[in-house]
Formats: sequence, structure tokens, C-alpha cells
Amino acid sequence: MFSLDLQEWGSPLQKVLRAQPIPQGSEVLIKLKYCGVCHSDVHIRDGYFELGSGKRFQMQERGMKLPMTMGHEPYGTVITAGEDANDVPVGEDRLVYPWTGCGQCPSCLAQMDNWCMQPRYLGIQRPGGYASYLLVPDVKYLIDVGGIDPIFASVLACSGLTAYSAIKKLQPCSLADHIVIFGGGGLGLMAIAILKALGHKSIVLAEIDEKKWALARTAGATMLINPQRYEEAIEQLKSVTGGLWGAIDFVGATQTAEVALQSLRKGGRLISVGLFGGEIKLPTVTLAQRALTIQGSYVGSLPELREVVELAKTGRLQPLPLSTCSADEISSVLDQLKLGQVQGRVVARFD
Ligand SMILES: [Zn+2]
Ligand SMILES: [Zn+2]
Repeated sequence: MFSLDLQEWGSPLQKVLRAQPIPQGSEVLIKLKYCGVCHSDVHIRDGYFELGSGKRFQMQERGMKLPMTMGHEPYGTVITAGEDANDVPVGEDRLVYPWTGCGQCPSCLAQMDNWCMQPRYLGIQRPGGYASYLLVPDVKYLIDVGGIDPIFASVLACSGLTAYSAIKKLQPCSLADHIVIFGGGGLGLMAIAILKALGHKSIVLAEIDEKKWALARTAGATMLINPQRYEEAIEQLKSVTGGLWGAIDFVGATQTAEVALQSLRKGGRLISVGLFGGEIKLPTVTLAQRALTIQGSYVGSLPELREVVELAKTGRLQPLPLSTCSADEISSVLDQLKLGQVQGRVVARFD
């Protein structure tokens, strides 16, 4: 088999030939067909995320050791499994939940692996999907996406799930409540499409690059604002009838969080997802008196991935612009993502 491995932080992925792994215990072996090439892999390849004020989140300190096969949006055919695996759908195609944990802690036992304190994520701490074969720790992480375009399905494991989990954190909220999405990139567009598919009536996009507005309108945005025009943006958000219930910040800059917090109605919620590296400064009195909730959201749980897949199966969730690349092109796609030159999502295909 081959894999595309990160051997040195910040360097191109290297193609490596190795023996095909043999699944042990509950493990399942997948022959990969597709794996989404995600923007977060740009940071993972570099080895860090900026935290603001010059601080960095180092991948090495989060248990990522090199060499590592990256790729966390895998889709493929089930080949074989270890002796402890039951009900293995051999020969069938499955989407793989990549945010796997230790399997033992209370979060993992509740299928909230994404909250595990010892994460074993595919493509970060465990070998991932930029390869011809992939070992999945348990059959429970395989999801039947029958009927959905497999290229779209692979994107659901990361951006779809991340957007869906953030939207769920807005609950309790009605379909008439006003929601603002900060950031009109892949995640923001996915969130707009999911909100529309769920039947939400008022979906605002706050995006500084007005060239991205047309795509957002097509996806379902009902109002567009530019958060760079700070005072005007806050004024517009505060003027919606009944007030702004929720904000999902897929940027995570100081300014997006500030516009969100200044605009929310009493009892409103800010869900912070983006890893741009901003900081929130808020008087604790304001937090209390306006009964605000600020919650972080990182990827999503296994049941949430099943839910967003079910939503896609209804046909109401419109796929985003998708394109494919070969395995050998993954590294250069990451370079293009870093330069902001990619429209929509790119999925690697392993023929
Ligand atoms: Zn991703
Ligand atoms: Zn765990």
C-alpha cells in the first residue's frame, strides 16, 4: 500500500510504500476511495495553529508524532476486520467518523469521542486517509451514506459535521429566530446550507469579502453584511425584529467575536468555531446582565455525523461546489489552500 506522510513539519507530504496493515481486535480495514483535503490540514502540516497574542497551539504537544499519514475525511470499501469485530459490512462502502477517542473514557462511552481528553483522531494522532488503506479502530465509526454522492459524503465528516454540531449548540431556537454566520468560506457556506435544509427562515452571513456573497445567497443566506464596517454591521444585526438569537463564528477573529457579542439579544448565544486566533474581552457584568452564552465547538460527535448524513439523504441539503484531485496532488492542493486559491472543497480520489 502507499500513504502520503508528513515527515517534517511544514514540508510537502512524502509518498511512502509500506506493508498493508492487518486489523487486530475490533479494527476494520478500509480500502480508500476518497478523502477530503481540508483547510485545517494546512495548519496540521505546519505543526501549529495561531492562538493570538503571539501564542501558538503546537500539534506536537497534542500528541501528533511524525511521520504521520494525514487526512481526516475518509470514505472507502470495507475489506476485512479483526477477530473481535462484529457485523462488519465487508464489501460495502462507508464513510468513516475520524474524530475517534480512547474508547474507554465517559466521553467515548457516550459516543462523544470528540470530547475525549486522549484523542486518537484519524490523520492527526492515528494514520489517516491520505493512503490506499486505512485502519479504523471499531466498526461503530463506519457510517452508511447510501444514496449520497460519496465525494459530498467525505466532506460531511469534517466541515458538514463541524457546521452541524455548531448549529445544534444554538438550541433551543425556533426556525424564525435570527442567526448570523461569520465567515463565508467552506464551513460558513455549509452552515447556511444546513440551516436552510433544517427550515430556518432568517440566515445572515457576515463576510468581509463581498465576492463571496453571491454563493452564500445561492446557499440560502437571507441577508448579507460586512463586519469590517463595524458600527453599521452591529446596527444591522441589532435591528432585526425580535433581536439576534445566535451567532456562529467560523472566523474566530477578535473583530468577529466583538461584532457578535455586541449584537446578540438578551439570552443570545455565540458559538465559537474558527481558529483565526482572536481574543474575547467582555465585562463579566455584561455577560451576566445580558444572560449571554459563549460556547466553543470543535468538530462533532458520532451521533451528530449520523444526523447530518440523514439530513443529506433527504436531498434537502445542497452540496457545495466540489472538485477532485489525485493522491499525488494533495500536497499542492494544501499549498493552494494556504494561499486562499481554492473555491469550494477538494476531495482526493484513490483510483
Ligand atoms: Zn477537516
Ligand atoms: Zn476517550
